[in-house]
Amino acid sequence: SAPSADDLLAGLNPQQLDAVTYRGQALLIVAGAGSGKTSVLTRRIALLLRQREAWPSQILAITFTNKAAGEMRERVAQLVGDTARGMWISTFHSACVRILRREAEQFGFTKSFTIYDSGDSRALIKRLVKEHEADAFGYTPAAVQSRISRLKNELQDAESFARQANMSDPAERVFAEVFADYQRQLQKANAFDFDDLIGQTVYLFRAFPQVADTYRRRFRHILVDEYQDTNAAQYALIHELTRPVQGPSTGSGTGREPFASNGMMIFEPDPQDAAGAEPGAALTVVGDSDQSIYAFRGADIRNISEFERDFPGAKVVLLEQNYRSTQNILSAANAVISNNFDRKEKKLWSDKGSGDAIVGFTGYSQHDEAQFVADEVEALRRAGMPYGEMAVFYRTNSQSRALEEIFIRSAVPYKIMGGTKFYERAEIKDALAYLVAVANPADEMAVRRILNKPRRGIGDVTETSIARFAEEHSLSFRDALAHPAQLGVGPKIQGAIAQLDAVLREATEIMLPASGEVAPPTAVAEGLTLLLQKSGYLDALRASRDPQDEARLENLDELIAVTRDFARNNPEGSVSDFLAEVALVSDADDLDDESGVVSLMTMHTAKGLEFDAVFVTGVEEDLIPHRISANEPGGPQEERRLFYVGITRARKRLHLSLAMTRAQFGEVSVAMPSRFLQEIPSELIDWRQSPGDVNSRGGTQSRALNARRPGGFGGSGGSGDRFAARALPKREGLTPLSTAMDKFPNRVTAKVRDNGDLELNAGDRIRHDDFGEGKVEAITGEGAKRIAHVRFDAAGQKKLLIKIAPIQKL
Ligand code: ATP
Ligand code: MG
Repeated sequence: SAPSADDLLAGLNPQQLDAVTYRGQALLIVAGAGSGKTSVLTRRIALLLRQREAWPSQILAITFTNKAAGEMRERVAQLVGDTARGMWISTFHSACVRILRREAEQFGFTKSFTIYDSGDSRALIKRLVKEHEADAFGYTPAAVQSRISRLKNELQDAESFARQANMSDPAERVFAEVFADYQRQLQKANAFDFDDLIGQTVYLFRAFPQVADTYRRRFRHILVDEYQDTNAAQYALIHELTRPVQGPSTGSGTGREPFASNGMMIFEPDPQDAAGAEPGAALTVVGDSDQSIYAFRGADIRNISEFERDFPGAKVVLLEQNYRSTQNILSAANAVISNNFDRKEKKLWSDKGSGDAIVGFTGYSQHDEAQFVADEVEALRRAGMPYGEMAVFYRTNSQSRALEEIFIRSAVPYKIMGGTKFYERAEIKDALAYLVAVANPADEMAVRRILNKPRRGIGDVTETSIARFAEEHSLSFRDALAHPAQLGVGPKIQGAIAQLDAVLREATEIMLPASGEVAPPTAVAEGLTLLLQKSGYLDALRASRDPQDEARLENLDELIAVTRDFARNNPEGSVSDFLAEVALVSDADDLDDESGVVSLMTMHTAKGLEFDAVFVTGVEEDLIPHRISANEPGGPQEERRLFYVGITRARKRLHLSLAMTRAQFGEVSVAMPSRFLQEIPSELIDWRQSPGDVNSRGGTQSRALNARRPGGFGGSGGSGDRFAARALPKREGLTPLSTAMDKFPNRVTAKVRDNGDLELNAGDRIRHDDFGEGKVEAITGEGAKRIAHVRFDAAGQKKLLIKIAPIQKL
């Protein structure tokens, strides 16, 4: 049965209780990591619903990732049951997409707009930089993109920029032109970039007060997690939504100028508001300025520090008890973060006891370090900790490779959190461009992208002819494809264009049936399959001898599986909805939710999550703090906060590791331990192998460096680190690498096998080179990630990646 209101309050400490039950207009909860900020938000929502103080539809909760949104929705549903449906729990971006879908027609867009991800807008900007010859002024597409993004995060548009810029400076003028043209092209393509999703929603609310009023009336409770990472545009959005309803929709509210010139809201109480019918929504925000790690995306900690000024009478609640971590982990975190000046001192405490010491390890190379991680993971697993409770963090994505290599060899099941990578693959972008060409034919970039994919003999000349024909006849690029005979191209190419046009039409009929018919839930999956088949895209990959194309086919299969999942979860979802969901997949949203595997991710992605065991790897100067931040104002402090985020994810076990040499981009460099390590009181760390151990053993470093040879060090199979491993004198006690080698003689040298598509089913018996015979109990995962869960007669339970494990079916 559903819990009572009292049940919902059970177990909260007095400050948390205060925060959950407070019923004023504005509430700020500031607290360190793991103190229950997110939990308090969740309980607040549950209590509002349970006590019928709000309908689900009156609640808007903003989380930082879709994954966090899903978790919060689930938690609320657990607490109050099905009533949870109809709430908006989502990221800023997803919430804005929902609003824009409904309102886009108000200002020159249509419902079926596309969302340009960062790669799409980069491609467009690249073209414009060339056309405007902006490169002559030293502008790179990347620089233009990040400047535009920064401006948009501050709610500057092309016009306001042009008004303020020094237009007698030719470099500024050309930038202003590119910015304006970029915006025109987006509008023409019926597309928003990521920043526009927020910025244009703010614009919409400001330009159309009666539209804003609809949402102000609707949302009576707005709750924002990770408030320290909101930027100016997101801040403005929240304030737009929490303004008092301006009264009956007379539409006369436009004469007001409630904004300072920097776009920020001025919070003078307005006489008109006082006369307004309803007060604004109640706002609850939670955050931790010590965890602000998105300054580079315009996040502004002042949003927290100025909350009380912006919302006079706001209640502030401080939480100090940490419920996540043991005291050793917390002490390390407190010690590190206290080195940041310009922060309010807050001391987190835990009643979980001191717990295990933090484990430190220094490897010779990143492979050595990765081996340590894999061995520790296995040791923890044997001691009963599930893989799903372990996570490995790094500063930059490229660090994951060495870890993956060793994990695969050691048969440690893992997943990389970072869904965007999948969607950045060329074949996936092609497939999505096909969908966009159907869903939003105005999106010329998408249509151009698929023009010659697969190869149809349509080159630049034909592309230009199509564009010219479109222009002359005032048609869209897409519609010009319907007139192949008039393009002045040869018959073969005419045929190719006609065929593409026909395929797009057929898919349109499936996904966007005319005459008001509702497309069946499976329409996107069917449409996509049809597009890939009839366009010849799949055939071209199948016919290829490039082994990579095999993987591309698998990825496309995976994408079709994603459309099926989408259909299951959104029976009424349109192809545009699907594309929006895909575009908004963020780093923390994994594709397939395998919970029984170790999670690998960057420290940025780790925000808000928690695990029993955490491995922070690459704790070296130039990585954390990162080289590029060293010279930026506030850079090292932001890196320290990032490190703080990383270590405060751990509940019970924290491992800090580094490598003395690191191969990157084919270069081997000597790495120095991070300054942050020295900030941790030394008695908290149990060094299994300290930087000193590695340094003092004369010559090991240069030996490790010498191990570099063509294709060896860090290359194909980590042969360099095997060399280093042998060079390592065996020590008494704990030298994880040598212990590992003694215990698992085959581990380091084991050959990875390519089993292709080995048929394996639950019930089969197999033989493993190291573990002997056993019985397959279950198969999970798909494609290259298929995992066999095996109970070995002697070696116990193991999970093996079928594709590569040294196994044989019996
Ligand atoms: P972060 O700053 O990392 O986002 P947070 O402040 O949001 O952390 P939560 O994730 O809400 O913290 O909580 C951390 C852990 O503490 C969770 O496992 C949560 O279930 C637990 N927790 C929170 N409050 C309590 C409580 N009163 N009693 C027991 N456990 C609690
Ligand atoms: Mg949280």
